[in-house]
Amino acid sequence: MAIDHETLLGWLSRLKLTAIRDQLDTLLDEAARQDLTMRETLAFLCEREIARKDERRVEMAMKIAHFPHARELDGFDFDAQPSVDPLQIRELATARWVAHGEAVLLLGPPGVGKSHLAIALGREVIRQNHTVLFTTAQALVAALVKAHGEGRLEERLAFLAKPKLLIVDELGYLPFDPNAAHLFFQLVSRRYERGAMLITSNRSVGEWGTVFGDPVVATAILDRLLHHSHVITIRGDSYRLREKRRSGLLQKATPSLEPAGNEPL
Ligand code: ADP
Ligand code: MG
Repeated sequence: MAIDHETLLGWLSRLKLTAIRDQLDTLLDEAARQDLTMRETLAFLCEREIARKDERRVEMAMKIAHFPHARELDGFDFDAQPSVDPLQIRELATARWVAHGEAVLLLGPPGVGKSHLAIALGREVIRQNHTVLFTTAQALVAALVKAHGEGRLEERLAFLAKPKLLIVDELGYLPFDPNAAHLFFQLVSRRYERGAMLITSNRSVGEWGTVFGDPVVATAILDRLLHHSHVITIRGDSYRLREKRRSGLLQKATPSLEPAGNEPL
């Protein structure tokens, strides 16, 4: 069957086989050089196309996730943070907990790497083929309050219930007003046992009553979050300050910024 090059490229476009289309000659030359059979050639071409589609899917999902910046587990210095168990983090990076709709709480004082780990884990979860949305507690609550005021709360909750993993960063930096706490509770209930959540906080779980301004709502939220959960409490000094100290910008050890009673539960 004689077929001209342009027509073939057109067919590949129509089938959305863009990786094969864009590198057709190179790939066919490669197949010939390796003396591949027809079946092997087909498999080789499919492999390239799948690799490209996976890359695109991950790229797109990373954009949709709205990470504030890129952080990877490779860039996390576990030696600098002995209270974090690398094996536990590697286990979480497999995203099994996400598939099961569980929760991860990353607790600890400012600068110890909570957001770094949250972003890095979120990125791994995307590579494991799950959808992720990253937000801060403040932005999340503002969005819920606004939607509530506009009579679109249901729509907003449905949107926030969609991603397989919802990351809520910086819970506890600002206390919630009672209305906001109740809206947050509705979100947690909506996602409970359906979608996973990863929450970072500078407050111990024992202090969440204060964060939510209402111990009853806090208990109801914690009840759901802790039911199937992994709580990681990071101790120690801020990594940023530590780096500064190292480079001689700060002379003495800075007093720990850890709030009093920073113990889990
Ligand atoms: P937190 O969210 O706990 O306040 P961050 O995750 O924002 O802290 O960390 C502050 C900065 O220090 C970030 O740039 C982060 O990448 C870096 N950092 C913190 N801990 C580590 C670590 N153990 N290894 C490498 N970088 C770290
Ligand atoms: Mg942070």
